[in-house]
Amino acid sequence: MIACFANDGRFEPEGVEMKKRVAVAGAGGFLGHHPISYLQGNGYWVRGVDLKWPEFEDTHADEFELLDLREWENCLDATRDVDHVYQLAADMGGIGYITAFHADIARNNVLINAHMLEAAHQNAVGRYFYSSSACVYPMYMQSDADVAPLKEEDAYPADPEEGYGWEKLYSEKLCQYYTDEGKLETRVARFHNIYGPLGTYEGGREKAPAAICRKIALAADDDEIEVWGDGRQTRSFTYIDDCVDGIHRLMASDRSQPLNLGSDRMVSVDELVGLVSEIAGKRISTRHDMSRPQGVRGRNSDNSACREVLGWEPTTPLEVGLATTYRWIESRVGEHGRIAGHDSSPIPSQT
Ligand code: NAD
Repeated sequence: MIACFANDGRFEPEGVEMKKRVAVAGAGGFLGHHPISYLQGNGYWVRGVDLKWPEFEDTHADEFELLDLREWENCLDATRDVDHVYQLAADMGGIGYITAFHADIARNNVLINAHMLEAAHQNAVGRYFYSSSACVYPMYMQSDADVAPLKEEDAYPADPEEGYGWEKLYSEKLCQYYTDEGKLETRVARFHNIYGPLGTYEGGREKAPAAICRKIALAADDDEIEVWGDGRQTRSFTYIDDCVDGIHRLMASDRSQPLNLGSDRMVSVDELVGLVSEIAGKRISTRHDMSRPQGVRGRNSDNSACREVLGWEPTTPLEVGLATTYRWIESRVGEHGRIAGHDSSPIPSQT
């Protein structure tokens, strides 16, 4: 027996002949790797595609192809003979990265998304998932740390994050056009700061939760760590298991408009440092570097539509998700013999 989606998003057993074939693009990355395990565990045949292999554990995919998805022929190859496509490949990183490389990020991602959509259409794919971002929301609605949670319709009039956010918003539109014209059934999630084990935690592309965990794992009791901005900027953070669950529920739903996929518990970056310090059992203070990029002042997810459409919303408490993430990062830096060493690189703010 294998499993397929029921209407409410849960898995239901079906006959072996019904086994679905899916392609996951970005399968070497954080969010692409996790759904593969989930799909595999539920009996799907999975092709993973990326520029690189997963960094921290072997892929669970039945087939894995190294392909550059900016190239049209490679997108045709990636989407051949599958029922569903999960498009999670993107040139992306934390706020330092996405504010420094607007041209590269916008060009690379628009090529990937335009080619992947058309290739999925030509290969008669049944359903297509696109990973959008809370970075599509207008800058003018996020200038206060005590921000009102963002609803899906707030994305217009548009004023998204330069480069990365504009490309996401345009690719959402491309998905809508393909769906409206009957070319391809698409589902679009706007992710709000996903974190968890097996994600990048150093090197410049890491986000705030992973960077904070790394810094505190490497710190001694009473150490001071550097944070970009004044630490009072706010975000909500979504644990990876909730994200994977939400992706599959959205894929099984009939919602073709973009949907927020995120926690609606808003915390400041300094509060995040406090939570991780408690998990680590260390007293840590922060030094704020106001010269570094900090992204929007405040951002939170309004989950009304998510609850209405999926009858569900993310539930993992931040303390629980951070504890798992911290232990994983602590073990990684420990393996490399760096515990109690010093890490002078700063903590980037969140996108
Ligand atoms: P990630 O960087 O870990 O994974 C992205 C993957 O895409 C990488 O493995 C990368 O090698 C691959 N890729 C980049 N260019 C490629 C190309 N030309 N051809 C093939 N593969 C290519 O990022 P992630 O956090 O896993 O993000 C996955 C998706 O979710 C992206 O679309 C991202 O914009 C979106 N998203 C993520 C977050 C988050 O908090 N992680 C928030 C909002 C949106």
